[in-house]
Amino acid sequence: MHRIGLGYDSHRLVPNRALILGGVKIDHPLGLAGHSDADVVLHAVTDAILGACGDGDIGELFPDTDPRWAGADSAGFVRRAVELAAAKGWTVGNCDVTILAQEPLLGPHKPRMRARLAELLGVGAEAVAVKAKTNEGMGAIGRGEGIAVLAAVMLVGDDAR
Ligand code: MG
Repeated sequence: MHRIGLGYDSHRLVPNRALILGGVKIDHPLGLAGHSDADVVLHAVTDAILGACGDGDIGELFPDTDPRWAGADSAGFVRRAVELAAAKGWTVGNCDVTILAQEPLLGPHKPRMRARLAELLGVGAEAVAVKAKTNEGMGAIGRGEGIAVLAAVMLVGDDAR
């Protein structure tokens, strides 16, 4: 059996924060605001995994009111979601990510994000896609007020391997 999961997240861009996307630190004057490291890519991917295996959402598992997750490396959220899926007999088949960011230009960073995601998900890089788009200047994303991410993850069941 296969299961599909969809994840979405968005965070505001603010001064005096590091910009971390897909587990990769990107040199930029602004970073994402949030309780954890605010890695909007890893949050969307975490929610896609949790959605696919029917395990709630990232806010339920890692509440932003819990001091344990203050400044947390979001890689831990992805790893935990992969573990929860594995406990139910699911492994990741592939992952498809679209990042909506007016700036910075993300093209040069896509290969590193892809490699890091593959590592966290326990799949080959060919099973991970990272795409980046501007919002053509439209709306809050287009004005550079924040970054949003859509992620889809396919889980493969024990019976299908
Ligand atoms: Mg988030």
